[in-house]
Amino acid sequence: EGRLTGREYRKDDFDEAGLRPRVMDEYIGQEKVKENLQVFIQAAKKRREALDHVLLYGPPGLGKTTLAGVIASELGANLRVTSGPAIERPGDLAAILTNLGDYDVLFIDEIHRLNRSVEEILYPAMEDFALDIVIGKGPSARSIRIDLPRFTLVGATTRAGLLTSPLRDRFGIVNRLELYTPDELRRIVERSASILGITIDPDAATEIAKRSRGTPRIANRLLKRIRDFAQIHGDGHIDLKVARYGLNALDIDELGLDSVDRNVLLSIIQKFDGGPVGLDTLAATTGEEADTIEDVYEPYLLQLGFLQKTPRGRKATRLAYEHLGIPYMTGDDD
Ligand code: ADP
Repeated sequence: EGRLTGREYRKDDFDEAGLRPRVMDEYIGQEKVKENLQVFIQAAKKRREALDHVLLYGPPGLGKTTLAGVIASELGANLRVTSGPAIERPGDLAAILTNLGDYDVLFIDEIHRLNRSVEEILYPAMEDFALDIVIGKGPSARSIRIDLPRFTLVGATTRAGLLTSPLRDRFGIVNRLELYTPDELRRIVERSASILGITIDPDAATEIAKRSRGTPRIANRLLKRIRDFAQIHGDGHIDLKVARYGLNALDIDELGLDSVDRNVLLSIIQKFDGGPVGLDTLAATTGEEADTIEDVYEPYLLQLGFLQKTPRGRKATRLAYEHLGIPYMTGDDD
C-alpha cells in the first residue's frame, strides 16, 4: 500500500464511476465555477449552439472528469472521454472528431500532454469546427477541409501554465478548481457512504474529511479503507473511534499529511536548513518526481501555510516546524 493520491491508483478505483455525481445538483462545492457554468450552459442551449470550449485545471482528484460528465448531462449531450497521452497520431484525433455528434462533449484529460502534431489538428477543430487534411506529398500535395460537428471540448490539466498559449487561447471558458473545504468533503463522504451502503457517524465523516487534503478522490478512498477496518474490527459501522484507528494505521496524521508529505517537509528542514531549496533538488532528495511534488503535494502544503514558494525555491514555515515538533530557528536571511 503506497500513498493515496496519484494517478497510478486509478486502476484500483474500479467503483469510482459509481460515486461520480451526474448532474450539477449532486456536484458538491466549487460553487463559483458551477454558478457560471450553469449560466453558460443555459445560454448555449437557448441559442441552440454548442457550449464554448472549457478548460478545467487544478490538482488531481478534484473532480475535473466528473465535471465534464456533469456538463455533458446538463447539455443533454453525449460525453466522449480520452486523454492527451492516448492520442498518439493526428489520425487518432481526426477519427475521434469525425465520430462526434452535434453538441457532443469531448473530454481530453491531461491535455498538456498532446504532442505538437496532434495539437495542431485541434486548432481549426476548436475554432472553425473543421479538419484540414493534407493529401499527397511534395509539390502535388493539397489540403482539403472537412466540416466537423459543433462539439464542445473540455480539457483538463493540473496547471494552466503547462498548455501552449495557442491552445490555452482557444478555450472560451477557463476554470480553476480549488481544494475543497472540510465541510464540503464531509458532505462528499456522507454522500458516498450512502451510495455504498455504509453507515457512518457525523463526527467520523468529519474526521475523514479533515484528513483528505482537500481532495474528493482521497476522501472516497479513505472512506473505503476505513470501511475495511470497521468490518474487521467491529460490525461494519464507522464511528469516530474506528475512523481514527484506521487513519492512524494508514499513517495519515491529523491534518491529512502522509509519509511523503512529511518526507518533503523534513527534507527541506533537515537537509536544507528550512530552505529555500529548488524544486529539482527537492525532487532528487526525496525520490519523488518534480511534477508530482508540484501538482500533488505542494497545493495542500501551501494551503496549510507549511510551505512558501520564493524566487529562490521552497521554504518550510514556522507552522511546518511546529506541526512536525521541530524547534524553529530563524535563519540569518529572514
Ligand atoms: P479529476 O478528474 O480532477 O482527477 P475526478 O473527476 O476523477 O477528478 O474525481 C475523483 C472522484 O472524486 C470522483 O469519482 C468522484 O466520486 C469524486 N468527486 C470529485 N468531485 C466531486 C464533487 N464535487 N462532489 C462529489 N464527488 C466528487
